Amino acid sequence: MSRGWISGEVKEEIRRRTDIIAMVSAHVTLKKSGRRYRGLCPFHQEKTPSFHVDPERGLFHCFGCGAGGDVFDFAMRSANLTFMEAAQELGRRAGVEVETSPDAAERASEREQILRALDAARGYFRASLASAGRKARAYLERRGVSEEIAGRFHLGYAPPGWDGMLTALQARGFPPAVLEQAGLVAPRAGGGYYDVFRDRLIFPILDLQDRVVAFGGRALDEAEPKYLNSKETLAFSKGRVLYALGAARDAIRERGEVLVVEGYMDVLACHQFGFRNAVASLGTALTTDQVGLLRRFAPRAVLIYDPDQAGAAAAERGLALCEEAEVSVRVAVLPSGEDPDAHLRRHGAEAFGRLITGALPMFEYRLEAAALRHGPGLREGKLALVDEMLDAIQTVANPVRAAEYLRALAGRLALPEEALRQRLRSRKRSGRSPEQQQAAITPSDNRAREEAERLLLHLMVAEPARRTDLARVLDADAFSDPAHRALAAVLLVSPDAEAVALREGLDESASALLVRLAFEPPPVTERDKDRAASEAVRYLVHTRPEAVERERLWVALQAAQTRGDEAELRRLQAAYSELITAGRRRN
Ligand SMILES: [Zn+2]
Repeated sequence: MSRGWISGEVKEEIRRRTDIIAMVSAHVTLKKSGRRYRGLCPFHQEKTPSFHVDPERGLFHCFGCGAGGDVFDFAMRSANLTFMEAAQELGRRAGVEVETSPDAAERASEREQILRALDAARGYFRASLASAGRKARAYLERRGVSEEIAGRFHLGYAPPGWDGMLTALQARGFPPAVLEQAGLVAPRAGGGYYDVFRDRLIFPILDLQDRVVAFGGRALDEAEPKYLNSKETLAFSKGRVLYALGAARDAIRERGEVLVVEGYMDVLACHQFGFRNAVASLGTALTTDQVGLLRRFAPRAVLIYDPDQAGAAAAERGLALCEEAEVSVRVAVLPSGEDPDAHLRRHGAEAFGRLITGALPMFEYRLEAAALRHGPGLREGKLALVDEMLDAIQTVANPVRAAEYLRALAGRLALPEEALRQRLRSRKRSGRSPEQQQAAITPSDNRAREEAERLLLHLMVAEPARRTDLARVLDADAFSDPAHRALAAVLLVSPDAEAVALREGLDESASALLVRLAFEPPPVTERDKDRAASEAVRYLVHTRPEAVERERLWVALQAAQTRGDEAELRRLQAAYSELITAGRRRN
């Protein structure tokens, strides 16, 4: 693992001053469990938490995808940074000076430059709202957006004209090429560049580290499109970001529920009226990544959509994704022609609160929507409705929930539950073929070796005191697996170093193994530890090498016999019986 070139003391100081729990909590809700914390992994999609954080050691590890490491690794992975970028970022937050050479600063990655340009652009838009943004300020006032909310969401204004921002940012040293990569300017046909956002109200889009990654701009007159978003860049991928998630994070955790609306103005209104757990999907439909993101913070979601055709389709897609991710989801349907912003301003917080309380659980919502479409009074309508709902039930992973849905469907249509179950079964038989079972075969002697090696490594990681004793009877060559051997070599000569410190000298796979072992529960009970350790040592130092040697001698014996090489045969036979005797003596 490349650790860059900052000094060990600086790294240690940053580690000491960085609260790994606070840092990880910016990305995922953690629950305390013993001395450690647990949550859903931010690095892969999962339904049950296998991501662990150990605040004492300053390490994290995911048993699902194997991601693991310290605060530097977390920063690198979660924000897609190089080690030096992570060190700078963490150093800045911890108040530790991280020195860089001038050309290192120059070599700061493209992404870092883009983020800096976006941050400068936010400042420019913000200042323009105060100085030149009379039109935008009037618009906000007309829409009832409070100053406090405008400030909390860093709203800004892009003045008309073609190169106001280009000129301002160029004067601050940003090359036009970087501004183009950041999606702020576009090349002009005849050469040069022009501002992408002109005469628009600006909504900065922030990531979970509160850095601006993109902008949304709303036209203040009849200009098309009404809403314009930054193009996808190295810093921004539309389907992976939720608008206002950072601002809503704490409220989402507190309530255990997230409100999903469609637009920027909807989010602003929700937050202003006290619904601070609202986020927007930056498009009509939620994506898998966005649902995964939501899931890390709350187990429940309420989708709030316009009842129009596009809104209903978006809700459908969002529902399916939430169902897949086992997010418990309800749908609040607004009165026709109203979005959350309009609804809140017209009817107030209390009415909106009732709308959310009355939101239908996913299955009921679907049933009502489908009933409206098919008109279940008629026989054909009823059949089509049954089939549509059975389609939905078949995709439900959780059998208990599937059974509940079946019951609800039977009740709603006044049909015997058994009839629905039969239809479901017959569809399943004719439908998809069952998945092939994979036969995973592991050679048993490899497994015994693997287990013995891991047991000893685990003990040495968890209990430094054992390292010295084991070093007397064992050396690293007794370990066959290369990562095991590399880790053993370091552990056996480091009688009291903490796990984190040992990672420095290891390659990537040995370092990942070390972190994993630091999180794994002990493979044996406290009482059995000593016995298991000496058995493992005996296996690795004697039993297994002897078995390998016996095997080798046996093959050689056969060959000598076939060749008729008497002298060699006698020599091998002597070696063989000596090996057997030595083994007996020890047992
Ligand atoms: Zn994971």
